[in-house]
Amino acid sequence: MIYIGCHLSVTNGYEAMGRTMLSFGGSTFAWFTRNPRGGKTKSIIPEDVEKLNVLIKEKDFGPLVAHGSYTMNLCSAKEETRRNGLEMLKQDLERMELVPHNYYNFHPGSHTGLGTEKGIELIADSLNAVLKPEMTTTVLLETMAGKGSEIGSSFEELQQIMERITYKDKIGVCFDTCHTWDSGYDIVSGLDEVLTRFDKIIGLERLKAVHFNDSKNECGSHKDRHEKLGQGKIGLEALQRIAMHPIMENIPFILETPNDDEGYMAEIHTVISWFR
Ligand code: FE
Ligand code: FE
Ligand code: ZN
Repeated sequence: MIYIGCHLSVTNGYEAMGRTMLSFGGSTFAWFTRNPRGGKTKSIIPEDVEKLNVLIKEKDFGPLVAHGSYTMNLCSAKEETRRNGLEMLKQDLERMELVPHNYYNFHPGSHTGLGTEKGIELIADSLNAVLKPEMTTTVLLETMAGKGSEIGSSFEELQQIMERITYKDKIGVCFDTCHTWDSGYDIVSGLDEVLTRFDKIIGLERLKAVHFNDSKNECGSHKDRHEKLGQGKIGLEALQRIAMHPIMENIPFILETPNDDEGYMAEIHTVISWFR
């Protein structure tokens, strides 16, 4: 069995997200730690967060997978953008300790002209500046589609970031099925080959979470346009094989499909039905 859930809005607070996910029938969820495009944070009420912590324990949730802001770019050519990104990362990780022992996922970044090698260095430097041995959060690098100057569209690039990290037990990977497919890994006809490759280059023990999406585009398109499960080029059969693969046991799967609440609920139920 995997843990399944979707992205939720933090507007009504933390406990509300837990309750909403229970009503959807899910067992994990994701939320943006701040406005995904603007970067602003919402103030946190400690009692509210505590209620979520109690609830997720009581109801046997899997690890939660918070998502960093899209505006956070740790390897931008602009120094100010990098500085802001580092500040966001630092604050986000401090706040994550209010919901201890969960995951914080983010897009490694876009080098915007600096080159991949320099970008990788800058991302690792920022992570090394904020990761602390006493942290309970595991930070996850997301596999990317490779649009523009995005870093992280190959397992090698992710590995090159990770090998530079001092506290290696604080870092892992979030496998986005749409992105991985778009970046050129054929998870439809070659799932085992892709996973073997992941294992060789990164190590499957570092695969901590999955963003579970279909894709509007062909393998290798580098487009990054998510689709509802079964309505895209990956297709329901291949997605089911991924979810039911033995290495995915107990991993949180987060839907980032273009859906309203009802659509998410239906997808959560579909996934759960595979395991019955
Ligand atoms: Fe993402
Ligand atoms: Fe994603
Ligand atoms: Zn995406």
